[in-house]
Amino acid sequence: MAVAALRCLIAAGLAAAIIVCAGASPAQAYVIDGVRWPGTTITYYPTAYRTAVDRAARNWDHANVGVRFRRASSASAADVIVKLGAQQCGGFSIVGWPRWWSQSWVKLSSGCDRDLVTLVATHEFGHTLGLGHEIQRCARMNPVVDYSGTPEFCEYHPISYWLAHPLKGDDIRGARTLYSSPVRVRAASRPRAIG
Ligand SMILES: [Zn+2]
Repeated sequence: MAVAALRCLIAAGLAAAIIVCAGASPAQAYVIDGVRWPGTTITYYPTAYRTAVDRAARNWDHANVGVRFRRASSASAADVIVKLGAQQCGGFSIVGWPRWWSQSWVKLSSGCDRDLVTLVATHEFGHTLGLGHEIQRCARMNPVVDYSGTPEFCEYHPISYWLAHPLKGDDIRGARTLYSSPVRVRAASRPRAIG
């Protein structure tokens, strides 16, 4: 693995933030960290990086995980608004179905390479689906990637490879497991944001 510029994304609860930059045994699989959306379609509206965000949505649609992303006709009509607001070419998003919140969001950074943003948005849409961070094996949901888009624990490839192969089996298994399960809402739980 050639990682010249590791980037540790920030995972944050609504109050305190911690840096996630870890690695251990490859035994653990995907992490389900949020509530699945109740329907079979999640609508989104990109206010920035439209082409990259559309491509990120298609990455998940092509994986056939049991729910599909569709672009809404306006920001107000969308389940998820995608906007600027993250830092250091990372992303930030609400994990899973936000329930009583009227709208979910994904935040991206301004001024970043659009190919890298495509992969960051793919990761963030994984959070939108309800996936958490996979910090122990090669997966798009691993929060540590380099500027080629290669996640930690993955064999190095140039970004052109990752644009053609954005999701790993671990990501897809996680999302399929989540969307083949019943919706479970814990009354006391609150939606939270993660990088
Ligand atoms: Zn993340």
